[in-house]
Amino acid sequence: MRLVVDLNRCQGYAQCAFLAPDVFAMHGEESLLYNPLAEEERHEEVARAVAACPVQAILVEADPSAEAPRTRPGGDR
Ligand code: SF4
Repeated sequence: MRLVVDLNRCQGYAQCAFLAPDVFAMHGEESLLYNPLAEEERHEEVARAVAACPVQAILVEADPSAEAPRTRPGGDR
C-alpha cells in the first residue's frame, strides 16, 4: 500500500507511531518518519493509525500503481 502523510497538517501527536510502530516513527519531538510503501500485511495497524490521527493527516492508497499526491513539509503555503 502507498501512504502519504500531509506534513503540513501533521501536528506530531505520535498516535500513528504508537499504533503502527513498524510504519511510523517519531524523530525528535515533532518530526515524523514513515514508510511510504508499507507492506500490505501492515494494513490493519495502518488503518488504526489513520483512524486515530487527530488531524486526518494520513492518506492511504491501496493500489501501488496509483499516482499519489506529493506533499512536502512547508510546501504549499
Ligand atoms: S497521528 Fe497524525 S498528527 Fe500525529 S504524528 Fe501521526 S500523522 Fe502526525
